[in-house]
Amino acid sequence: MDKIKIYHNSMTYSLLGKDLATQSLAHAYLIIQPDDGLRAEYARYFVMQLFCTKHNVCGECDSCVRIEHNNLPDLKIYPKSDKLTVEESRSIVGDNIVRPFEKDYKVYVINDIDRANPQSQNALLKVLEEPAESSIFLLTASSENGVLKTIESRSKKIIEAPLSSGAIRQYVTDNHNDISAELLDNITIIAGGRLDIANKLAGNNKSKAMIEDVTNVINNLSSSAQVLQYSAILIKYKNDLEEMLDTFLQLYLARMEDWAAGKDAKVNTAAVVMISSLITDCKAKNKFNCNPNGIIDHLLFGILEAKYICR
Ligand SMILES: [Zn+2]
Repeated sequence: MDKIKIYHNSMTYSLLGKDLATQSLAHAYLIIQPDDGLRAEYARYFVMQLFCTKHNVCGECDSCVRIEHNNLPDLKIYPKSDKLTVEESRSIVGDNIVRPFEKDYKVYVINDIDRANPQSQNALLKVLEEPAESSIFLLTASSENGVLKTIESRSKKIIEAPLSSGAIRQYVTDNHNDISAELLDNITIIAGGRLDIANKLAGNNKSKAMIEDVTNVINNLSSSAQVLQYSAILIKYKNDLEEMLDTFLQLYLARMEDWAAGKDAKVNTAAVVMISSLITDCKAKNKFNCNPNGIIDHLLFGILEAKYICR
């Protein structure tokens, strides 16, 4: 599984495919893609799809190859640095009147428009209201929140959904080594359909160790005599307590589904409900800088208590 395959299953691919087939291309598209691991790629694949001789992002035709190497005069990609500036918006407005160099369209990719300030976005409005006949604007954003309503309303909006667990599993398996089946299950759960999160976890030894240690506690903690032993292991993550608590929460919540499906979840639904509120409590203590040892003990004894009460 590679990112082009993921793109082939995306909303963007199917919508642009439809617009190409019906010759009803819009002058402006806005892709809402929360996944940091896919947003800029989707923009590049969009342009490939538009210019690809087969319109399917073949990756081999002259257009696809040149776009891959950012070597197409009719493709302009912004921002040049961190976020779109007013000057860049103005230069886009000026450039928009110049005809395409070799293609039928000139494409302006503007990544992360939601990070640009209102002045920079407002400076773009003019070309979105009256684009040159041959211009296509492709904006991307992680969410609609930072996008001006005026920009949004002049664009054809495409909202990308999280990836399926199957796609996440396949991508991690194909791109990372040394991932056990159980770790893969857990990374998939925590990623929640986000490739950027899955990649980060699968490529980071500390995160992988944390997931394994947390899973061990969930599977094996059954007596107060073990608290000392597990607390000595978990204290390694004292600087990443928030992440560790989130990992506990997500993995416990997934056990609810296992329990409902009749699998050996090691914990029942009632206990997970209690443990969820225990974790919220631990997170509050962490926010108030309570002692990490104290928080971990509170968590472990609380888990035992919940399992005992709800047994
Ligand atoms: Zn191609």
